[in-house]
Amino acid sequence: MKLSESFFYTLREDKNDEESVSGNLLVRSGMIKKNSNGIYMIMPLGYKVIENIKKIIKEEMDKTGANELLMPSLIPEDVYIESGRRNVFGDDMFSLKDRYNRRYALGPTHEELFVDAAKSKIKSYKDMPFNIYQIATKYRDEPRPRLGLIRVREFIMKDAYSFDTDLDNLDKSYKKMYDAYNKIFSRVGLDYRIVRADTGAMGGLLSEEFQAITNIGEDTLVMCSNCDFASNIEICECITQDTCNELKKEKQIVETPDIKTIEEVSNYLNIDKSKCVKTLIYKFNNDFIACMIRGDREINELKLQKYLMTNEVLLAQDDEINKFSVKGYVGPENLNIKIIVDKEVSLMKNFVVGANKENYHYINFNLDDIKEYEVVDIRNISVDDLCPKCHNKLIFKKGIEVGNTFKLGTKYSEKLNLVYLDKENKRQNVYMGCYGIGVGRIMASVVEQNNDENGIIWPYSIAPYKVCIVVVNPKDELQIESADKIYQILKNNNIDTLIDDRNERIGIKFNDMDLIGIPYRVVVGKNINDNKIEIKRRDNANTEIINVDEIINKIMG
Ligand SMILES: [Zn+2]
Repeated sequence: MKLSESFFYTLREDKNDEESVSGNLLVRSGMIKKNSNGIYMIMPLGYKVIENIKKIIKEEMDKTGANELLMPSLIPEDVYIESGRRNVFGDDMFSLKDRYNRRYALGPTHEELFVDAAKSKIKSYKDMPFNIYQIATKYRDEPRPRLGLIRVREFIMKDAYSFDTDLDNLDKSYKKMYDAYNKIFSRVGLDYRIVRADTGAMGGLLSEEFQAITNIGEDTLVMCSNCDFASNIEICECITQDTCNELKKEKQIVETPDIKTIEEVSNYLNIDKSKCVKTLIYKFNNDFIACMIRGDREINELKLQKYLMTNEVLLAQDDEINKFSVKGYVGPENLNIKIIVDKEVSLMKNFVVGANKENYHYINFNLDDIKEYEVVDIRNISVDDLCPKCHNKLIFKKGIEVGNTFKLGTKYSEKLNLVYLDKENKRQNVYMGCYGIGVGRIMASVVEQNNDENGIIWPYSIAPYKVCIVVVNPKDELQIESADKIYQILKNNNIDTLIDDRNERIGIKFNDMDLIGIPYRVVVGKNINDNKIEIKRRDNANTEIINVDEIINKIMG
């Protein structure tokens, strides 16, 4: 492709308004353009990257025997009401009416439709296993789109669904996808980890996430320094060892004037925050609950939600707290609501709590001092915790979820009546798995992991073009002719190449090619009189002068 004849632009200035390195670089290099909040145009260069990613995904999916199809985006809302997921999606679902006032949704996910499709084929056990997938646009009305292509409202996703007769066979289908995913994420050049995750809105037996390791990831990943343990912090279990050998003391009320936060309390009483226990009041389903966790810990609201079997918990507002206690002095004693004690607190002795009385705390408080409570793991694991599996040190990283795999089991087939006849002619529920990959997120994560001060450094596999031929002087006929010749050689070897034949200063051309991150730069200048060209890799500062006929070896070798 000749740049002088194509839709190509870059921004001279970095607008810096995408909240992420990848967002800024993709906008500046002319790969994407923001259309509205969380919605982007994919420009020709960016589209080539997207197509390259899709090609790798398709190749690996097709190798597993999966079949590609295409589902509609416009879906009657009843479909989600029937599966019970209309409420789960809530405002995240784009919903609209047609001219006859019938309600439709813009598909946020497609389990329901794939089940419907599967019904056309599945009659008996002989009709399985199979796997069907699509690469299509999904819509979610995110409350806060951000980070460029990472949290958006319209996005390209690959979603696949496997159908099996029983759990053993689902395990086999799942393993196939798991292996294919490893190949896909390696081929696109991502540094990633697989972690256990919450089954969330999808539900089911097992969920694993493929997380690209980056600085801006929205997920916190917990990994072991010794074994293969890796988990999303959301569901990571905390193992607390009983190390406190103090004798229990008598509780004592102390005056703590205007001392409210854990920070203030620990300073005022000159004790470590880990000897304080905070009591937080949460609201859920119009009810309230008190949660006790160590002063220096964070509550894990997902664990709390799961324990309470609810979709949402909210910290109580000041006026709500004051119905039971006094803000800043909340404690467990005589609190007229149910109390949940974090496992770690259940092993603590002689700690500090609020006294439910303005300007007072208790010291040397023990759980014996309250009558009823339940012990539950409700905190986030932290750096001083040990691996739940092998008790070694943990490492924390940030990740962007680029893929996920779910063993759904019979959750959807039960609800949507997807059954088959087994060998004894008995009706059985179908076992399903579902497997997603965010195509745009891969693009963004690769850029997050591969860039420098000059721009993007695409891995060869997904680069929009593999080679750019920069013509130093486009008015020099030999240079232009030679560039065309090299272009033909590369093209004949299926190497996607562009020629920068624009009438621009060489510095501008170099800057643009660095910005858009093409893996190889070939410079055709005066040296061409001796049949020589300069070649440079984007990820390496060194340049090399080679003979024209060496080029294929340089790139493919
Ligand atoms: Zn471990």
